[in-house]
Amino acid sequence: MPARGFRLFWKSATSIGQGSERAHVGRRDWGKIRRRTSTMITDCHIHISPLHMFKPAALELMRSKRSNYAEIEEFCRSPKSFLKYMDDCGIDRAVLINYVAPEVIGFTTDVNQFVADYVTENPKKLISCGSLHPKYTQNIMADVEHLLRLQIRMIKIHPPHQLLFPNDYLNGVTELEIIYRAAEANGIPIMFHTGTSIFPGARNKYGDPIYLDDVAVDFPKLKILLAHGGRPLWMHTAFFLLRRHPNVYLDISGIPPKTLLTYFPRLDEIAHKTLFGTDWPGPGVPDVGKNLREFRSLPLSEHVRQRILSGTALEIWPV
Ligand SMILES: [Zn+2]
Repeated sequence: MPARGFRLFWKSATSIGQGSERAHVGRRDWGKIRRRTSTMITDCHIHISPLHMFKPAALELMRSKRSNYAEIEEFCRSPKSFLKYMDDCGIDRAVLINYVAPEVIGFTTDVNQFVADYVTENPKKLISCGSLHPKYTQNIMADVEHLLRLQIRMIKIHPPHQLLFPNDYLNGVTELEIIYRAAEANGIPIMFHTGTSIFPGARNKYGDPIYLDDVAVDFPKLKILLAHGGRPLWMHTAFFLLRRHPNVYLDISGIPPKTLLTYFPRLDEIAHKTLFGTDWPGPGVPDVGKNLREFRSLPLSEHVRQRILSGTALEIWPV
């Protein structure tokens, strides 16, 4: 059981006000918004990050494996250029993944300010994802408040790069519990990297999604997104968690569309809680538009396709 006695159920005045926004919209207007957004496509997993923070070894891996490195640099520098690219690819909204991982990648808590500033170019299309790291915080309560003030709309935990198990709050890492409680109380989803990582220094034992079973039990209102569905080692575990827990969702990013149905042959059973994502510019994802076209060509029903491309994300991040 998580430790008791925390007073962490604050609702920041500046936190996401989706519920209240909906309350101000009349029923007829809401119907219009719904029709307008029913085809709105969200890529829930794009890495737009401060490249200057990369450690040399991590940056070297990026440079050597990406032929389009100049494009990556340009998009990370200029939200205008990236928004144009999204339009060209047919993507309406993108969730911009950032996380704190000083040891493996080099990212510090400054990534939060970076992404908060970046999305101001168009907050309807650009959705910020930030992070905290239990080991790299002097005052976790203050840092969580800061995240809320920045209006971060998702938190990323990357166990193989942050070198922790998602359920380490059971072993004394109370900072994790504070992060989870704050996210739960404020309706902010948390995305967990699940599956392997080839970055130098990454430790893959932390990528097994089974440790999220505890988190889903202990924080039943927290929306938990499984990035990459445990690929390529733990898809069965991921599928089990998705079916067991109402609060667990699947982000298909990083899974090549042509192998998606091999990894998840019963995808239609979990389509109502599955999100489209690419993991651009991850290995094997040179172009978002190509990935989207390949996903569209899969033998899925129109309902399932629409749900994954659009519906689930609209429920998690309403317009
Ligand atoms: Zn990623």
